[in-house]
Amino acid sequence: MPGGLSEEEAAARLREEGPNELPRDRPRRFLASVWDVVKEPMILLLLAAAAIYLVLGDLTEALMLLPAVLVIVAIEIAQERKTERALGSLRELTSPRALVVRDGERRRVAGREVVRGDLLVLSEGDRVPADALLLDSRHLEADESLLTGESAPVRKLAAAAGAPARVDPRPGGDDSPFVFGGTVVVRGHGLAEVRATGPRSAIGRIGASLAELDAGRTPLQVEVTRVVKAFAAAALLVCGTVVALHVAVRGDLLQGLLAGVALAMSMLPEEFPVILTVFIALGAWRISRSRVLTRRLPAIEALGAATVLCVDKTGTLTENRMRVAALWESGAPHGAGDGPLPETVREVLELAVLASQRDPFDPMEQAIHALGASALGGARHAGWELVREYPLTRELLAMANVWRTPERVQVAAKGALEAIVALCRLEGDAAAAATARATELGAAGLRVLAVARAEHAAGGLPEDPRALPFVFGGLVALEDPVRRGVPEAVAECAGAGVRVVMVTGDAPGTARAIARRVGLPDGRICTGAELDTLDDDALRERVRGTAVFARVAPEQKLRLVQALRAAGEVVAMTGDGVNDAPALKAAHIGVAMGGRGTDVAREAAALVVTDDDFTSIVAAVRLGRRIYANLRRAMAYALAVHVPVAGLALLPLLLGWPLVLFPVHIVFIEVIVDPACSIAFEAEPAERDLMRRPPRSPSARLFDARFVTVALLQGASVLAAAVLAFRAGLHHTGADDAGRALAFAALVGGNVGLILVNRSWDRVLGVRAGPNLAAWIVTGGATLLAALVFAWPWLRQAFRFGPASWHDLALAAGAGLVSLAWFEGLKLLGPRWLRR
Ligand code: ADP
Ligand code: MG
Repeated sequence: MPGGLSEEEAAARLREEGPNELPRDRPRRFLASVWDVVKEPMILLLLAAAAIYLVLGDLTEALMLLPAVLVIVAIEIAQERKTERALGSLRELTSPRALVVRDGERRRVAGREVVRGDLLVLSEGDRVPADALLLDSRHLEADESLLTGESAPVRKLAAAAGAPARVDPRPGGDDSPFVFGGTVVVRGHGLAEVRATGPRSAIGRIGASLAELDAGRTPLQVEVTRVVKAFAAAALLVCGTVVALHVAVRGDLLQGLLAGVALAMSMLPEEFPVILTVFIALGAWRISRSRVLTRRLPAIEALGAATVLCVDKTGTLTENRMRVAALWESGAPHGAGDGPLPETVREVLELAVLASQRDPFDPMEQAIHALGASALGGARHAGWELVREYPLTRELLAMANVWRTPERVQVAAKGALEAIVALCRLEGDAAAAATARATELGAAGLRVLAVARAEHAAGGLPEDPRALPFVFGGLVALEDPVRRGVPEAVAECAGAGVRVVMVTGDAPGTARAIARRVGLPDGRICTGAELDTLDDDALRERVRGTAVFARVAPEQKLRLVQALRAAGEVVAMTGDGVNDAPALKAAHIGVAMGGRGTDVAREAAALVVTDDDFTSIVAAVRLGRRIYANLRRAMAYALAVHVPVAGLALLPLLLGWPLVLFPVHIVFIEVIVDPACSIAFEAEPAERDLMRRPPRSPSARLFDARFVTVALLQGASVLAAAVLAFRAGLHHTGADDAGRALAFAALVGGNVGLILVNRSWDRVLGVRAGPNLAAWIVTGGATLLAALVFAWPWLRQAFRFGPASWHDLALAAGAGLVSLAWFEGLKLLGPRWLRR
């Protein structure tokens, strides 16, 4: 094989010609983002309030509100940038990578680092990184629909040596030696030399863009938007009525408008969508730390509700680090470590080597090659030429290689026992003996391959390998250890009400042995053949109680997903190959394997597991649950905070008291304190029994009646404390500004209380699995900020706080805090409805 470019050459060319990527949309302009924020209702209300103050001649008041506008714009833009950066780096990590030959070695590089002249190793499922000329094609077929709109794959042939390739290649049409960037290898493999990258490639010239990270709206976003709209409508209605009443009774239009604007600000739940965005984006980041990358954000919500994890056996539950454990020709199997191989067994191994790729990528074939090199010695097949490959098909789980030796043409095949038995037309005792051995080896958890040989007289080779006169060779048994931590993770899933289902192309016996080892429930195994005989209704029943599906072809996974969905499950499905893509798309949570997965699978999936490990998937489920639980707490808190603020804005208008809250106070609480505090919930550790509860129902709403009632009651308690503080202040001093200071202190105390009690809905004082530093920082920060307002005369005046002693302020704050004690009491009683 040619050695490709050297790393220096590649680096130089990358500098010269630029990266292999399409020009991107330019990042949104700064002013455009600012304009988006300014259009938000909260800012419009603030500006309206400032305008009214100006008309009233209160310049200071108007100016007080402007910093708030700046703060909101700054926070929002910073948040947007942060979210975009988090998603951007995920996009980078999930983008296609390329396998190139440099300095004579195969290396995986980012697609954007591919340069002209690079040698590409292309395999089934790869997205071709750049336009290239095929030097070698092993039945390579490409899907060029992206460029041509034609969905049937086209066949590719290697360029004839010496003959100049066409100068201006065009996609489409069979038998061209060119492959094109952005298209997909759907079959076969090959080696190609890059001719054009980035904007110079065919796709670059037409400016098409590949499917990017999808930030589509999630079910939660839809729900939250609905809630916000309902809130806003209610706020509008209440404000309109109040302003009309106010003007009618007191006859003061501007004051009435100001009170109305303040009320609207107090009721507007503008932080809800922000909380959601931040939780999901930070959630994606958290999950990425357990080696799961998010490609589609809705998957993060669905993770916490997952009820079934369908996982591949090989590579996900096991390590996919194969080792030949035993060989069999006749008699007793020969252990691979049992000293020198007898001649008959050597032949079995030799057939297995010859039936593998020359430079294998498949761990199974690598294991065979490894033993071959040590036990048979190298250079045995020097001068042999590989003239034809018969690839594995769904109909025949075996592959064969045809070799031309100096003397003759020899064919070697390996594959599933049934396939090889059929190829050799083996019957009677011979078939029974092989099957018995294979069953025995499979029961020990080994993957069993059978091998066969055929001599071919000179002349044309048949299209179908079944036409060759195969003779049975023997068995090769491979060991693939179970991954560390998998039995524990399976047990964790069982406790969490999440069913684990093993899906494998391997034989039922091997599948059963591995299933036992990882702790899956024993039961009847469903095979792919049986699956084909079941109609949709029967399959829906069958999937309910089946933990192992064996000898399943990837194409059958789609039906499995559909049956599980029809049975009401929330399904996560793993996959790695081209044929897994439809099932990955159909599952609620498609999970691609980052290590061995093809680009096609990665692009179809919502999540990519970089280390292919089952335990990472379970960790992601755990995090998904935690994210949802924390999101709920944050929303409960934010909802509750609105009650006392809106109440203090509304009650005076209704009852004819002096006004308690002005826009500054509302802005302080709703715009600065509340959003900052909501974020504290994001860092809350998982509750200890999070994975000992059943998954949440997929139909459960975030804002269900119980949730809303609890939040409103909490808010009402704080409101009661604030009203009490206000009346007490008013009563004792006769000055409404003293009452206002105390009411505000009660609000601040109540805010801290709401954070503390909502950290957990079943543990007293929010003591969960671990400390939450963020919660303490924001509650402390908010309290300090409030203290600053009381302590700094200028601010105190701007907030229109009258004289109040620290003692009284502390008392009022304490009242706000203690008003929530009932909720802690409720936790002690521990009603089960509180937790869900
Ligand atoms: P899994 O689901 O465990 O990854 P596969 O679908 O890869 O299983 O393989 C299914 C069966 O096809 C294997 O048990 C084996 O019999 C056969 N097979 C797979 N790969 C090869 C190969 N490279 N050569 C011969 N047979 C193979
Ligand atoms: Mg496999």
